[in-house]
Amino acid sequence: MTFSCVVQRENFRDLPQIAEFARNWGVKLNLSTCTWLRTNKKEYLIPEDELEELENIIKKLREHKKKYNTVIASEYTFKKMMEYFKNLTVGNCRAGEKFLIVNPDATLSPCGLHIGNYTSQKEIIADFLKNNTCGNCMTSIRANTEKPFKYQIIDTLRAARRAH
Ligand code: SF4
Repeated sequence: MTFSCVVQRENFRDLPQIAEFARNWGVKLNLSTCTWLRTNKKEYLIPEDELEELENIIKKLREHKKKYNTVIASEYTFKKMMEYFKNLTVGNCRAGEKFLIVNPDATLSPCGLHIGNYTSQKEIIADFLKNNTCGNCMTSIRANTEKPFKYQIIDTLRAARRAH
């Protein structure tokens, strides 16, 4: 079982307590970055003058992760989270290629925020990915599936070390 928490302006200061809460329950904590695209509301994004505070909170989460292995967000997720809140966009999205969504009627969408009715991944890549300029989210699914090889190796080694 995993707690899934969307990091946004109103909750980011509570993340260390949320991590502790998850640890006490014996579950993992996954983190996803809030996007404005779902609701078209930007008040939950973290403004520039609060980003240093977020960086400090992330430091605490790293320490918590190192000590207890409750937080499963990777270093790459933290890095991209900061980048997203700073620029409100992260380019080179690989939705449709690295991951896709199966709709209730079994058609396919490139991501949960761009619903389509494609019939194959090939079609998504040719039509959506080729023309996609959206960089408006850094959800957990995006951060984890786009994670470069270097970070995949680091995360795998860390997980293996903790398992022993
Ligand atoms: S950045 Fe990519 S995954 Fe995120 S909303 Fe845009 S297309 Fe979808």
